[in-house]
Amino acid sequence: MTHHHFDTRALHAGQEFDPTTGAIVPPVYLTSTFVQDGVGGLRGGYEYARAGNPTRTSLQEQLAALEGGSRALSFASGLAAEDALLRATLSPGSHIVMGNDVYGGTHRLVNRVHVPWGVELETVDMSDVDAVRRVIRPGKTDVLWIETPSNPLMKITDIATLAAIGHEVGATVVVDNTFASPALQQPLSLGADAVVHSTTKYLGGHTDVVGGAVVTNDEELGEQIAFLQFAVGAISGPLDAWLTTRGIKTLGVRMRQHSANAQVIAERLAAHPAVRHVYYPGLVDHPGHEIAARQMSGFGGMLSLAIEGGAEAARRFVESTEVFQLAESLGGVESLIGYPSEMTHASVRGTELEVPADVVRLSVGIEHVDDLVADLEQALERLPR
Ligand SMILES: *Cc1c(COP(=O)(O)O)cnc(C)c1O
Repeated sequence: MTHHHFDTRALHAGQEFDPTTGAIVPPVYLTSTFVQDGVGGLRGGYEYARAGNPTRTSLQEQLAALEGGSRALSFASGLAAEDALLRATLSPGSHIVMGNDVYGGTHRLVNRVHVPWGVELETVDMSDVDAVRRVIRPGKTDVLWIETPSNPLMKITDIATLAAIGHEVGATVVVDNTFASPALQQPLSLGADAVVHSTTKYLGGHTDVVGGAVVTNDEELGEQIAFLQFAVGAISGPLDAWLTTRGIKTLGVRMRQHSANAQVIAERLAAHPAVRHVYYPGLVDHPGHEIAARQMSGFGGMLSLAIEGGAEAARRFVESTEVFQLAESLGGVESLIGYPSEMTHASVRGTELEVPADVVRLSVGIEHVDDLVADLEQALERLPR
């Protein structure tokens, strides 16, 4: 599949029709074990479903093809995928450097699960290359963890530059590619060693399944993560894997529409008197615009707004939209609105990861853009002047 374009790979990688019946869509293998033709006589290598299931294999082949990796492993959630990757790359005494605006759950996983086991965590502004150089330690920093665009302020990190810096000190360079998706950004081709995803978001794309994945080109790392997937067991179930696979088939067209809609909204609201600032890498005055234009093939569907009138106005705004529904999560076909300081980022209040109280976050869906703009404008009109 590697010579085909992205949209073709998304549809066909790992999706061979069922050889027995000709069913064009590979079936969901709802089974926990596999009958053996005599002791050890496995069909296709399948033995027990924690170790392997054809539906999971199908998703993993699709994911590897999309990120340009040699190996993908899928998990029960994005955080389960991250945990497997961290266990494979950290040990007591390790040092890990992350952005000071990483996904709150990622920070919590390292800070509250891995740090008590003897790992040292340092957070830094990843968009500041000199600051990263100052904190990484040769022979000591085992992981450099990048998330770009970041959540919710859409900071952009230069993946190729940071990958080179990480490799100078022998670190494994990881990119959380959840916000961009492989349709817009392929970190392995920019030098990253591993990509992690919450497939719950754009990859699944239909807000009906929780999942995660790690993709890599490093055979040894892939082997270690495969072992952890099997030995720890945080696997994706067959129905979840199948739903994710189905979602991925339309990833390319969805991301083009998400990006187009978000660009229109960003430009319209940037000029609105009730909006103090729009955070969207597709705007030319965004500080990361040039890097984003270089390393991404579209600017994505996530944007944040700072609302005039502070916390009270921001709260009222998120409760006044109708098409945009108030909910956590992102990346689905339907538009969502959130108030990070009390929703997704409530756990990091009082830390350097805290989000300003006037910021609201939009996950722009693929509804007609005129309806989305009208919805946001009517909610802004209802704010007190
Ligand atoms: C949601 C999310 C995660 C965690 O994934 P889950 O599937 O919720 O476990 C990790 N990183 C980012 C950027 C996310 O948005």
